[in-house]
Formats: sequence, C-alpha cells, structure tokens
Amino acid sequence: MSLIVQKYGGTSVGSIERIEAVADKVAAFVRQGHQLVVVLSAMSGETNRLIGLANQITETPEPREMDVLVSTGEQVTIALLSMALMKRGLQARSYTGGQVRIVTDSAHMKARIEDINSDTLMSDISAGTVAVVAGFQGVDVEGNITTLGRGGSDTTAVAIAAALKADECQIYTDVDGVYTTDPRVVSKAQRLDRITFEEMLEMASLGSKVLQIRSVEFAGKYGVPLRVLSSFEDGPGTLISLEEDDNMEKPLISGIAFNRDEAKLTIRGVPDTPGVASRVLGPISEANIEVDVIIQNVSDDNTTDITFTVARGDMKKAAEILKKTAEELGAREVLTDPKIAKVSIVGVGMRSHAGVASTMFQSLAADNINIQMITTSEIKVSVVIDEKYVELAVRGLHTAFGLDAAE
Ligand code: ADP
Ligand code: ASP
Ligand code: MG
Repeated sequence: MSLIVQKYGGTSVGSIERIEAVADKVAAFVRQGHQLVVVLSAMSGETNRLIGLANQITETPEPREMDVLVSTGEQVTIALLSMALMKRGLQARSYTGGQVRIVTDSAHMKARIEDINSDTLMSDISAGTVAVVAGFQGVDVEGNITTLGRGGSDTTAVAIAAALKADECQIYTDVDGVYTTDPRVVSKAQRLDRITFEEMLEMASLGSKVLQIRSVEFAGKYGVPLRVLSSFEDGPGTLISLEEDDNMEKPLISGIAFNRDEAKLTIRGVPDTPGVASRVLGPISEANIEVDVIIQNVSDDNTTDITFTVARGDMKKAAEILKKTAEELGAREVLTDPKIAKVSIVGVGMRSHAGVASTMFQSLAADNINIQMITTSEIKVSVVIDEKYVELAVRGLHTAFGLDAAE
C-alpha cells in the first residue's frame, strides 16, 4: 500500500465524460489498496473564460477580486469528481484550498505556499476516504483567497505530496510524459523515461509548460518523486528523478524548449562609462520587471548599445522607463521588438562535452535563421531569434542533436 497524490489537469477533467473516466481511474487505484489524495484543475478553458469575463469589465481588475473569481473553476471540478467517486461506492470529500488550509503569502495571482495543514487530509486517508483538493488556490493568513499563478495546480499537488511525505506525486495530463520537445510542435519528439530535476527545471523555466516551474522547484527541494503521465492511456510516463542515471549513457541534449512570451528592448548610443548597465537596468528591476537575456556592445565612438529581453506583457512599461533613462543619459534611441522567441537546448550531458553550442549555431545557420542574442549556462544554451522561425529552429535542432524518433 502506498500513499499517492494524483493531479489531473484541465483537459483530463474537461467534461462530465472525462470526470467519470478520472473517477474510474481513481477507483481502480483505491481498490488496489492505495491511499489517495486527488488534486484537480478547472475544466479546460474555464480559467481563461473567467479572466475574459473580468476583462469585459476592466482591463486592470483588482488582483484580490481576480483570485475570488478564478478560484471558482476548481471548486466545480472537485465537487463533481467527489460525486462521481461516491457513485462508485467510494468515500470521498472535496476541499477548497482554504478548507485544507493551504496557507500562502498575500501576493494575489502569484502567491507562494507557506504552509499546509495536513491533519484533515491525514485523517481522511486513514479513514479510507479519498480527499479531493482544489488545485491552484490557497488562503492568506487574513483569510483572503489567493491563487498560485497559471498552471499552479501542479504546485498544489507537489506541495501536498511533500507535506504528506507521499510515496509519489503523479501529474496526469493530455500527453503521456515529458518529451524531448513539445510534441505538438515536433511530431518526431520522443517521450523521456526519466529526466533529472535540474533539467526539468531548466525546461520549465525556458518555456516548456508541461509542469509549472514552482512545482519542479518544490519537488527538487523536498525530494518528492514526481511522474508525468497521460490520463487518457496507461503507460509508465516520465519520472523526474534526483539522480542522474549513471548506468545510462548521458545524451548530450535531453530536450529543446522555446518561449514566445518575451520581447526585446534596445537602448542605443549610451555614453560608455562605468555604471552604465546599472543606470539602464536598475530602474527596470525597481519597477519589478524581470530582465532575462542581456547583451552589451561597444562601438568605436565611445558609446554602447544595451539590448535585453523582458516578458512580453512588461514591454510597454519597460519601454517607458527606458525612454526616460535615454533622455537622462543622452542616448540616441530606444527600440522595441515584441516578435522574438527564445529557443534553448538543455542537457546535463553538456557539462562534459565541448562543441554543443557550435552544433546549435550550425543548425540554425543551415536553416538561414539569424541569431540575435545568445546566453549559456552549464546545462543550457539559449538563443533569441525572430518569432516566425521558432518552429523551423526547433525542428532543425531536434534533428541536429539526434533526438528524432525513428520513422
Ligand atoms: P494540464 O492542463 O494537464 O496541466 P498543460 O497544457 O499545462 O496540461 O501541459 C501539457 C502540455 O504541455 C502538452 O499538451 C504539451 O503541448 C505541452 N508541452 C510543452 N512542452 C512539452 C514537453 N517537453 N513534453 C510534453 N509536453 C509538453
Ligand atoms: N486552472 C488554472 C490554470 O488554468 C490552474 C491549473 O490548471 O493548473 O492556470
Ligand atoms: Mg498545466
């Protein structure tokens, strides 16, 4: 007998038929003798629908009210699944985040979990009851409803698994595991049997939305065994593991991630003096805008150009700040470009191999794709390119690094 936390995503609970199918799956696990906590997302499309309603009223809804609104989606699915489980003769009980007491900070729409009171869940489990918990939501110390950011149900599941010291946290979704890249973009992508936390964290941070970044951070920190599986078909899925498997030959590259959600800003002709980067980027970070890739070029007239990327939603605000700085510093101009994408190769195997980046650059050159920016770390290389070439770039790299599935 083991204690398992299972999370079912939006598509997996997207209709009554799907909820009934999830109930069958859960019932089978209970009948095998496992103890279960089930975490659910809202039905697919529901969170977007709710956000759309708010935006019909105002472009800048109050974050506290947004959380009251968007947390309703998960309340629907937990009640429906509990009913479906009871119909199958099982004991089940649904809980909102506040009822479990998933306590978060007060950062509405991007709250962080601080504490989970596991007493209620533990006593349900001991009594043979399936606890069905709303993902994505919590409550702050004052009792306000909070949410954890898009895709946050993954994090709810991992945090509960950590709090209960569960044997495994299983993330059921609409693909049968973590692939070498998004299988909806590259049909030859291959499922990975396992991937390290470190690589998964890079993949998630660099744009692979199969797991919310924070859920991977949490699982790594608390050593929660994490598996991504399909709710539509049986299979082993992908195990996200702590250790690199020493018995296996490490592939150079485990996966390719991409992100279309960034924009590029350039300030040109800034007098090149010490402290200029901090003068340019300081006000951006003071405005709580996260800067990602940065490059600085010096030209022979003693001026410099600084180019950097931010989340696309922050571009307008960043440009306003940058224009002000440009006036103060006597810079020539400020340019913006929202139509960029970041493509990254990720792999722990890179540590012990030179030449990975040049293979990447050759592949992009062969497809006539211009590289605008480059950034590297021990286990990844990222390039910024024109957004319209992102699929071409990812497919080319997938082939160049030998990741394509056999025909
Ligand atoms: P859920 O609603 O179950 O949380 P998500 O849409 O959040 O599902 O995540 C699953 C999706 O992630 C898949 O449908 C797939 O298109 C996308 N995805 C992106 N990168 C990858 C990858 N490397 N491996 C698997 N899926 C990926
Ligand atoms: N329903 C939320 C979202 O769409 C949380 C989740 O599905 O994980 O972002
Ligand atoms: Mg998700």
